[in-house]
Amino acid sequence: MVAALQISDKVVSIMLQFLPHPPKTKRQQKFQVRKTIKHSGFVEGIGLHSGENMRLIFHPAEEGTGIVFWKRNSVSERSLIPADVRHVIDTSLATTIGADGEYIQTIEHLMYALFVLGITDLLLEVQGGHEIPILDGSARDFIATLNELEIHEHREEVEPILITKPVMVNDGNRYLVALPADSFKVSYTIDYPHPLLKDLSIQLDYDRDFFIQEIGSARTFGFLRDVELLRQRGLAQGGSIDNALVYTPEGTLNTPRFELESLYHKILDLIGDLALLGRPIRGHILGSRGGHALDVAFGKKILKVCTGMVDVDYYPITIAL
Ligand SMILES: [Zn+2]
Repeated sequence: MVAALQISDKVVSIMLQFLPHPPKTKRQQKFQVRKTIKHSGFVEGIGLHSGENMRLIFHPAEEGTGIVFWKRNSVSERSLIPADVRHVIDTSLATTIGADGEYIQTIEHLMYALFVLGITDLLLEVQGGHEIPILDGSARDFIATLNELEIHEHREEVEPILITKPVMVNDGNRYLVALPADSFKVSYTIDYPHPLLKDLSIQLDYDRDFFIQEIGSARTFGFLRDVELLRQRGLAQGGSIDNALVYTPEGTLNTPRFELESLYHKILDLIGDLALLGRPIRGHILGSRGGHALDVAFGKKILKVCTGMVDVDYYPITIAL
């Protein structure tokens, strides 16, 4: 009988899987550590909308600094704009952040790179204009450059935003929803009047490598019929097949990198905008035909509902560097 009571370690571990896990206290939970880079470095290229030649310089930052854009006006003056959803001042075609009369346009692909690399503290010096270079239209070159500059881990941890109850924003039949979940997941649907972009959808559990290599390499896309209109309005001045996947009425002008490249890019844009919350997210994000305006409204609503922040429309700059 004694022998029958001896339970092997393997059986114990199997049994343990079926026991309810006690909730972890804050201390036991493993959060991401804050991160910056070890060295300064830069990327250069044209801005998608302005066509300006831009240089973006990455500088390491102390823990707790956050992501801060830095525009040098003269030798003594400088404008600092925290990468915070409450500082978004425009969302037409790209996400623009601003403070004190200064602004930086098209920040979303760069913000995506910082989110997937877990970089929380960084100074971003912008030279040559007011737009982040579009590079190849994805987050790939930002990710590669930041990896070359080497990630430095700080000691402090960054607590994720827990989605504690459903949060939703919509604009007609376009919507974004966040639901409680144990980890970060994204489900997304797009539906454009184009034979290659009809009713495409995907559900993804967060897998860092996939989000870095595949979603991170998905380029901006546009329709040939829109290009001339945008140019007449002074927009998309730097847009070309070097930085965008361009759709003709029946197909594409250039070759897609992935079958679902444009769906992937919508996910990249959404996560890039949600990176302006400054913390990882634990929850399931579901989107259908979102865009920058909806993304930003969604980010603000998450702040209100899940962190209890009251005034999400404006806050004064308190950062000192
Ligand atoms: Zn984009």
